[in-house]
Amino acid sequence: MAIRTVGIVGAGQMGNGIAHVFALSGYDVTLSDISQEQLNRALATIKKNLDRQVTREKITAEDRDAALARIGATTRLADIGPSDLIIESATERETVKQAIFEDLAPHLGPETILTSNTSSISITRLAARTDRPGRFMGLHFMNPVPVMQLVELIRGIATDEPTYKTMAEVVKTLGKTAATSEDFPAFIVNRILVPMINEAVYTLYEGVGTVISIDTSLKLGANHPMGPLELADFIGLDTCLAIMNVLHDGLADTKYRPCPLLTKYVEAGWLGRKTGRGFYDYSGETPVPTR
Ligand code: NAD
Repeated sequence: MAIRTVGIVGAGQMGNGIAHVFALSGYDVTLSDISQEQLNRALATIKKNLDRQVTREKITAEDRDAALARIGATTRLADIGPSDLIIESATERETVKQAIFEDLAPHLGPETILTSNTSSISITRLAARTDRPGRFMGLHFMNPVPVMQLVELIRGIATDEPTYKTMAEVVKTLGKTAATSEDFPAFIVNRILVPMINEAVYTLYEGVGTVISIDTSLKLGANHPMGPLELADFIGLDTCLAIMNVLHDGLADTKYRPCPLLTKYVEAGWLGRKTGRGFYDYSGETPVPTR
């Protein structure tokens, strides 16, 4: 199956990165969102990030201009229906995603492959509500998309082999590496990473170490580029908590119990970098621990 045209639903931080890498690899991309303002912001972000790649001599000015010329934007979901490939990357809420696939249904081409960039929602369940569970799978990019090498390929129970093979090829053409995961809560990366972060929060909660000693221990003791609490602030504490809840509900094992301190930070609106405060306070020049 040859993929040339790609429709992306959701022009948030992930959608703009996904559009960026597909356009740079020669695909014709259309970004769609319910908000024209989000589309404008996404196009400006893509231009800024491509400019940075030109400055760093990773791509040429011609590559940038050609990529920008391949990206269209629309607030009408129907416009992207006939694309060869659709990547849903809207807000992480199952009802939102289901409604998008339902609205798209009458406009799809007969061969269109449907994918979702969800971090945690069941691919099998999303696929079951469409007319093509065989041509549906998870395509999970990492943040920031233009920088991170990995893409998780998630097969729903009904995903057929040609769809899986086509998507594995597409990932190669982006210059990225795929890892394949079966459809279980949080897939592979977040199944391992987020419980580690949750354990780091327990370590803080129980007074085993301070924010600095926990982050220093993992950076220097396990060669992690970022400490787990610093990383939690980068991902967003609300996202970390949501993933722990998906693991806890989906696998029904107490080892995935979200740390009460993580819940408390989220309830306080201390969500990490995006709100200026989490395990660190980002208001000054250098981040300082908040406890
Ligand atoms: P975001 O909040 O930055 O963007 C979501 C976008 O979806 C917004 O622009 C919003 O206007 C749009 N949207 C909402 N409802 C819509 C609808 N009905 N139709 C069209 N657009 C709609 O979120 P994000 O961080 O880009 O996350 C998007 C998806 O990617 C989620 O499923 C998330 O789990 C997944 N994801 C996120 C990360 C991350 O680190 N943030 C990493 C991997 C995957």
